[in-house]
Amino acid sequence: MENYHELIQKQRDYFAKGETKDVSFRVNALEKLQKMVKTNEQDIMNALKEDLNKSEFDSYLTEIAVLLEEIKFTLKNINKWAKPRRVKSSVPTLGSKSFIYPEPYGVSLIIAPWNYPFQLAIAPLIGSMAAGNTAIMKPSELTPNTSELIAKLIKSYFSEEYISVVEGGVETSEALLAEKWDHIFFTGSVPVGRKIMQAAADKLTPVTLELGGKSPAIIHEDAHLTHAAKRLVWGKFLNAGQTCVAPDYAYIHSSVKEKFIKEAKKAIEDLFTSDPIASGNFTKIVSEKHFNRLISFLDNGDLAFGGTIDVEKLMIEPTILHEVTWNDPIMEDEIFGPILPIMEYKDLDEIIFKINERPKPLALYLFTESEKVQKEVLTHISFGGGCINDTVLHLSSPHLPFGGVGESGMGAYHGKGSFDVFSHEKSMLKQSTKFDLPFRYPSQNALKTIK
Ligand code: NAD
Repeated sequence: MENYHELIQKQRDYFAKGETKDVSFRVNALEKLQKMVKTNEQDIMNALKEDLNKSEFDSYLTEIAVLLEEIKFTLKNINKWAKPRRVKSSVPTLGSKSFIYPEPYGVSLIIAPWNYPFQLAIAPLIGSMAAGNTAIMKPSELTPNTSELIAKLIKSYFSEEYISVVEGGVETSEALLAEKWDHIFFTGSVPVGRKIMQAAADKLTPVTLELGGKSPAIIHEDAHLTHAAKRLVWGKFLNAGQTCVAPDYAYIHSSVKEKFIKEAKKAIEDLFTSDPIASGNFTKIVSEKHFNRLISFLDNGDLAFGGTIDVEKLMIEPTILHEVTWNDPIMEDEIFGPILPIMEYKDLDEIIFKINERPKPLALYLFTESEKVQKEVLTHISFGGGCINDTVLHLSSPHLPFGGVGESGMGAYHGKGSFDVFSHEKSMLKQSTKFDLPFRYPSQNALKTIK
C-alpha cells in the first residue's frame, strides 16, 4: 500500500499558511479551473469517448456545460457566501452581536465514480475550492483515460500542495482513507459508501456521501403520456442508464400502460435511432462485469422492446421489460443500465407503501396533472429530490441542493450547497463591554427576574 502521508502533510502545511482563506485567491483559482475546462473541452470529450463511447453532445451537456454553469454561479456568489453573516441575538445575550463565520475545513478528499467521471470529480472540487480548502482527488480506475486526463490537467494548472490527483483503484482508495482528513466527499455506490463512513468514523471526519439506489418513476392515469414517455426514456437511457438519478423502474397505472409503452417505443427511436448500437453514439457499459450482470436481467418479466446486445462493444440497446414483479432479480438492486422494468398499479396508496418498504430513493419522478396526487406522493414518500413531469433535470440547477437521504446519501451539494458542505459554520457571539447585565450571575433576585 502506498503511503500518502507526505502529500497530505504538504497540503496541510500549505493550508496552514492561510492563502486559500483569501476570497480573491479562491476567485482566481476558480477562474483558472474555468479556463482549464474550457481550453480542454475537446480532450475531455475524447477521453469520455474512449472510456464510455459517450457522444460529444452528451459529454458536453452532462460533463462540461454543467460544470461551467456551476463555476459561473459560484463566481457570481462567492463573495456573499464567504462573508460572516450577522444573525439575531436572543434575550439572554442582550447587548451582544451574533455572527456566523463560514470557514474551510482544511484538507479534503474527493473520491469519484466512473459514470460521469469528469463532472463528478470536478463538481465537488468547485465546492472545496470555493470554501477555501485544499483537495486531493481520486478519480475512478474504471475510466482510465478520463482519470489520466484529470491528473494531467490538475497538475498543469495547480500546485500539488493546493490540489492534486491520486490515480488508482480500491487499494489506493483504502490507503487514502487510512489517513486523517478534514472532510471526505464520496460519490459512488451504497456498499462502498458504508466503507467510507466506517473509515471516517474512526477519525471522526465529516463526510458527504452521494450514493445511489432504486429511483422510481410513477406514471399516473392522468399523465401527459407523450411528454412522460419521452422525458422518462431520455432520463433512463441517457449514458445507457448509468446515471445515479436515472429512473430505475416505472410504476405505471394499468389504464395507461399499453399506450405508455407505445409512446416509449416511439420516443426511443426518435432519441436514439432505430439501431442505437450501430448509431455509434450510444454509451457502452463500463465493464464486462457490469455487462454480464445486466444481461442476466433480460429474461425477467416479458420483453416489450429492445433486448439486442453486442458482446464485443459491451452495448445493450434501450430495453423495456413489462410484467415485472418485486420478486424478479432486476428489482433487488439499482440497475444502472439501459433496461427499464415496468410494473403496473391501480391504487396509489399501495405503491406508496411498496416504495416506503425499501430504502429511501435518491430520486423520484412523478407524472401527473393532479395537484392532489403530487401532494400525496410528496407528503408520504421521503427521497433525495426529483421532478414532477420530468426526470433528472433537478440535478442540473445550482439553485437546487442535490443529494440523497437515508441509504441514498447524506449531505447535498451544487450551488451554495457545495460551498456549505465544504465549510464549517463557526458561531460567534461578540459581547459588549459597555455594561454587564447582572441576571446571568447566580443570586436569589436574578432567579426571580429570569423566571
Ligand atoms: P463505486 O462505489 O464502486 O466506486 C466509487 C469510487 O470508490 C471509485 O473511485 C472506486 O475506486 C472507489 N472504491 C471502490 N471500492 C472501494 C472500496 N472498497 N474502498 C474504498 N474505495 C473504493 O461506485 P461506481 O461503480 O464507480 O459508481 C456507481 C455508483 O455510484 C452507483 O451506485 C451510482 O448510483 C452512484 N453514483 C451516485 C451519484 C450521486 O451523485 N449520488 C453520482 C454518480 C454515481
